Amino acid sequence: MNGIKTFSSLPYFCRGTVIKGFGRGSKELGIPTANFPESVVDNLPHDVSAGVYYGWGQIGSGPVHKMVMSIGWNPYYNNTKKSMETHLIHKFDKDFYGSELGLVILGYIRPETNFDSLEKLVKAIRTDIEIANHKLNQEDAREFLLHDFFKHPVGQSSTNGTHSSL
Ligand code: ADP
Ligand code: MG
Repeated sequence: MNGIKTFSSLPYFCRGTVIKGFGRGSKELGIPTANFPESVVDNLPHDVSAGVYYGWGQIGSGPVHKMVMSIGWNPYYNNTKKSMETHLIHKFDKDFYGSELGLVILGYIRPETNFDSLEKLVKAIRTDIEIANHKLNQEDAREFLLHDFFKHPVGQSSTNGTHSSL
């Protein structure tokens, strides 16, 4: 074991409508997270386990942005439900509830962790964002910006995950 986690189902593409989340005040922390409906979460391949991931995300047919996403149970909040929560690394002028969010999950950052303070949680997320930024600047990640998935998003919308190996 070299400690490196590999996922045969990454890259993983999916698209779904942005729904209201748990109202836990992510936005107040400066890190809003767009939530997916259960149908999208249920379609995740099994090897994509709880943890923090990075990739690209697109609202409707808009520009493609860097993203970090948390998959799992959100232990900090004692959450009982699995969730996929995406923070797009971009400053939006307004919310986009009800819009289609298309994603490609490219890689894994860290496992889910239970933080004993809000401060530590926010600090960890800031670090996740830095790591995602760095990974997504690399050529192998940037290639996905040109992927067909992001070129013709309208009419492809689906709450079912689609898996492509590029
Ligand atoms: P909720 O509990 O409803 O998910 P959040 O505080 O997590 O509330 O805010 C998420 C919402 O914020 C998203 O659904 C979206 O409409 C909006 N939003 C604005 N900017 C971003 C961003 N950069 N990344 C993700 N969501 C954003
Ligand atoms: Mg949220």
